[in-house]
Amino acid sequence: YLLQLYQPLNIFGFVYRGVKEALIDMEKMFVLLAVDREVADAPGARPLAVSGGEVRFEDVSFGYDPRRPILKGVSFTVPAGRTVAIVGPSGAGKSTLSRLLFRFYDANGGRILIDGQDISQVTQASLRATIGIVPQDTVLFNDTIRYNVAYGRTSASQAEVEHAAVLAHIDGFIAGLPDGWETMVGERGLKLSGGEKQRVAIARTILKDPPILMFDEATSALDTHTEREIQRNLREVSRGRTTLVIAHRLSTVVEADEIIVLEEGRVRERGRHADLLALGGAYAELWARQQTADPVPEGAVGAATVE
Ligand code: ATP
Repeated sequence: YLLQLYQPLNIFGFVYRGVKEALIDMEKMFVLLAVDREVADAPGARPLAVSGGEVRFEDVSFGYDPRRPILKGVSFTVPAGRTVAIVGPSGAGKSTLSRLLFRFYDANGGRILIDGQDISQVTQASLRATIGIVPQDTVLFNDTIRYNVAYGRTSASQAEVEHAAVLAHIDGFIAGLPDGWETMVGERGLKLSGGEKQRVAIARTILKDPPILMFDEATSALDTHTEREIQRNLREVSRGRTTLVIAHRLSTVVEADEIIVLEEGRVRERGRHADLLALGGAYAELWARQQTADPVPEGAVGAATVE
């Protein structure tokens, strides 16, 4: 996720350098900016028309640098309203899949379809309105907690914002803050714990109400209580939404409709938890390793374990 953030910052840096150059050569700057853009709307792009929100990766290949392929022909489908968990070792390309779905980059080969429409052929605005992201680490603005929740849909009424907080189980927390909803948070305000920040992200997502959800589980080990709470949050926010989760936790993979085991940019195994265990392959091995090395209390499985 940091890399996702890094990307826009990088572009700003580029624009800044570009502006300096512009004093010398305005035209050159525009040429450079055009080249630097990762993705653009296709000519005559239409808004995405969402029916159920089925997500389909068809033989998708991608490398940040064409000389170093990261995804090598990945195919899978998340049926409308279902949950697919992606697991695999660090660097396998799990986050890259989510970046491609959000179209931070275009695939080099293959296609990504939502309800049968190639995402490279629809407007980026409509695509991004369709997908909600609950990242590993949510960025909070140096503003009130109200602003930070309402950010999910700036046109939402106060009642809607507060209802989203109830659904995300953060209303009690907010009520207990010194200035309630007007409490300043972020770098220069109140610092929230990882779990609280995640609940802010969930409240934002509930407000945005997207048909498709991308959930990037935190890799850090959590205490059992927080772990359970976050699982409950995920279950609630993903109800009725097509959900792609980059999973690091036992409870998530066990409940997923399908588990995709990604290794070195390829789908190594796929199936439900019990099927993959019975298969006795890579997943079962990950699993066994997890059981023996498991220092985390009941029900909670830290990152080191699935990875
Ligand atoms: P983790 O579980 O550690 O988050 P991952 O499976 O999500 O790993 P990705 O983040 O998708 O892995 O990264 C896959 C590979 O792509 C890594 O080798 C990484 O170095 C590389 N990579 C990721 N982002 C970029 C980027 N913006 N530019 C260049 N290479 C990148």
